[in-house]
Amino acid sequence: MYDVIIIGKGPAGLSAALYTVRFNLKTLIIGGNDSKLFKADKIDNYLGFSETISGSYLLTEGEKQVKRLGAEVVDDEVISIEKDDHFSVATVKTQYSAKALLLATGAPSKTIRIENLVKLEGKGVSYCSTCDGFFYNNLKVGVLGNKDYAISEAIELLRFTKDLTIYTNGKQLEMSSKYEDEAKQFRVETRQISKLDGSEFLERIFFADGTSEQIDGVFVAYESASSIDFARKLGILTQGNTVVTDQNQQTNLPGLFAAGDCASGFKQISVAVGQGALAGKAIADYVKSLK
Ligand SMILES: Cc1cc2nc3c(=O)[nH]c(=O)nc-3n(C[C@H](O)[C@H](O)[C@H](O)COP(=O)(O)OP(=O)(O)OC[C@H]3O[C@@H](n4cnc5c(N)ncnc54)[C@H](O)[C@@H]3O)c2cc1C
Repeated sequence: MYDVIIIGKGPAGLSAALYTVRFNLKTLIIGGNDSKLFKADKIDNYLGFSETISGSYLLTEGEKQVKRLGAEVVDDEVISIEKDDHFSVATVKTQYSAKALLLATGAPSKTIRIENLVKLEGKGVSYCSTCDGFFYNNLKVGVLGNKDYAISEAIELLRFTKDLTIYTNGKQLEMSSKYEDEAKQFRVETRQISKLDGSEFLERIFFADGTSEQIDGVFVAYESASSIDFARKLGILTQGNTVVTDQNQQTNLPGLFAAGDCASGFKQISVAVGQGALAGKAIADYVKSLK
């Protein structure tokens, strides 16, 4: 059992780890190499560098720094989080548990342009199987996505209906070996989707080739799960695409914190690093309070 698991190894997650390890917390960071910062070639507004630096330089050095101080860092993708007396974190590769958790997955980067997707949110389009699966008992349901997260959402939805299709929207289904067998139980539709339709509620899904089929519900599970997806499932307060926290980055679920682009309107490295530091300190206080 870890004292804290940090999801995300961008500036927010790495900064939080600097504090948690130096407060002697057993710290695990889980993340991938797709921090927004890797896209930034030139950074001139982060204090302490007289010459322009690249985002990848800052991240690589930051990761080395947290490892030197004692944090464990794994390259993996978190698929789901559950909370009972501690947090259980399921990844593509394995399972971990911790007393406290920090969401630092950055801003959601999913861009799905399907006509009427937004219009039908809450009217057949959902982002949370845990919240809304129950409403689709024995109905015809689709999961929109093509990776591990989509398969795990479909598996979750099997509790409610067996009539499940994974809509990849023109992409190939890409999954880790963990899901290869389980994925076989789902119908997979790879055609590009042109629009969703329905007067009051979702009724049909249309494909680019002009054909369509009846559908009762679509769950969006594109790319990897973001902090906002986890927040929705855990019933945490959100505002738009931002996880709501107090001034110490604590969400309304005790032990669960959020920092960086997923919890901030001003999406900058310095803000992510500052929020990570606040979260690191607050997490140390929280874990101490459990003893
Ligand atoms: C092109 C570009 C240029 C920029 N230039 C600047 C600049 O000059 N100055 C500046 O201050 N800011 C700049 N920014 C903004 C800056 O990059 C972000 O504010 C910052 O990276 C946010 O840090 P973060 O830690 O919150 O998230 P991110 O850096 O986005 O890191 C998110 C982490 O979460 C991980 N993750 C996501 N989902 C999962 C999951 N399900 N399981 C496990 N891990 C997951 C990712 O792999 C990644 O490690 C720029 C951004 C872009 C896109």
